[in-house]
Amino acid sequence: MIQFEEAIARIASVARQYSPESEVIPLEEADGRICTEDILSPEAVPSFNNSAMDGFAICSEDTLGASEENPVRLSVSSIAAAGDEVVSYSSDVRAIEIMTGAALPDIFDAVVKIEDVKILRSEAGGGHGILISSFIPKGNNVREKGEDYKVGQIVLSHGACIRAESMMALAGLGISEVTVFKKPVVSILSTGKELVPLETKSLKPGRIRNSTALYLKTAMAHLGARIHSVETIGDEVGVFKDHVQRNLAQNIDVLVTTGAVSMGKYDFIVPALLEMGAEIVFHKVAIRPGKPILFAKIKRSRGNPLIIFGMPGNPIASAVGFRFFLTPFFREFYGQHPEQAWSVKLSETTRKPENLKCFFKARLEKEAGDLVVRSLAGQASFMISPLVQANAWVLFPEVGTQVSKNQRVDVFPLLQNEFFEWGNL
Ligand code: AMP
Ligand code: MG
Repeated sequence: MIQFEEAIARIASVARQYSPESEVIPLEEADGRICTEDILSPEAVPSFNNSAMDGFAICSEDTLGASEENPVRLSVSSIAAAGDEVVSYSSDVRAIEIMTGAALPDIFDAVVKIEDVKILRSEAGGGHGILISSFIPKGNNVREKGEDYKVGQIVLSHGACIRAESMMALAGLGISEVTVFKKPVVSILSTGKELVPLETKSLKPGRIRNSTALYLKTAMAHLGARIHSVETIGDEVGVFKDHVQRNLAQNIDVLVTTGAVSMGKYDFIVPALLEMGAEIVFHKVAIRPGKPILFAKIKRSRGNPLIIFGMPGNPIASAVGFRFFLTPFFREFYGQHPEQAWSVKLSETTRKPENLKCFFKARLEKEAGDLVVRSLAGQASFMISPLVQANAWVLFPEVGTQVSKNQRVDVFPLLQNEFFEWGNL
């Protein structure tokens, strides 16, 4: 049995040897995809100086000394709206009316808001003027060329996950295609002759519904994987080996199994993989739940090996395997930094098993205005109901049989990139 940190180090080392492929896709299909390279700004945004307000474009120096008692009068020559062609004015023009987003003509260097001037309409109905009663500094209400993005500036770094917000930036820069990692192809295989499909109406004694496959499928898609297949087999070694052989031939990147990795008579996965020439990178980690977790790989004659994560069958053990083993594997695979925990005070002294790092279902809560984390009742690895109540995972260190109230502990969201439901605390 190895420690959690050693397991993560081995996962990272295998992931780094993997050579993920990339592809170019349209920006509008890129939600959730991961950049393979830094995306640099090809142009300045804004691409021209423009007005941040509806008001009047002026020269700052014309307002030197302006005050309530001694306002400056400027005559207004013209009007510019967003989208209008940029006009070159002669230098004797003192002001024009300007709308938000309209290009600021070269001769002006400031905009005064419409609310901050007194408009003087000429009696003849012709041109009008404005009165300004304070000094307007240079750049006032001007959005400068390149103020948001300069040419060559990094817009998204390699490893960044493209979201609606990044699409806003890329769209503004005219970047309509992005280079992203090809989705890793994953197959999910549940083992156990007790498992029946979720549609099964009445359960025979001894049978259970497969509650984990759908969790893994959904959570894995959230990680950016393409799910090739979701299958269930009984405890049959031959059928299992055939499945692995097919995964090898079909160039599956990652096979995730559930069940059959413990010490029971029907826990056949490790011996079967050894017979197939697999390298067992680790089997059994000092954690709770999920101690029997397995990480292995099988070489192919060409290309990347088949990566195998063997999750113990209990649903929460599978969830921990996904969240704290598979997720770091994918992050390393995408060249992302390891996820950072939140450090939060524990709400009450909590017991834990000695010598096992614990990943417990937890809730972030507010206590007298402070954020605390509570480890939920029902940490047994078969108990799903507390997971549904949970809004986070709390991690307890390996050493010790309890963690004291107010001690700071590591907290992670249920799935990566998820914000805690602050509104729900
Ligand atoms: P195993 O790891 O195969 O020894 O299974 C451990 C426990 O998890 C047993 O009680 C199994 O019945 C249960 N189990 C295995 N696979 C699943 C699954 N896909 N969904 C729900 N429970 C499961
Ligand atoms: Mg089993």
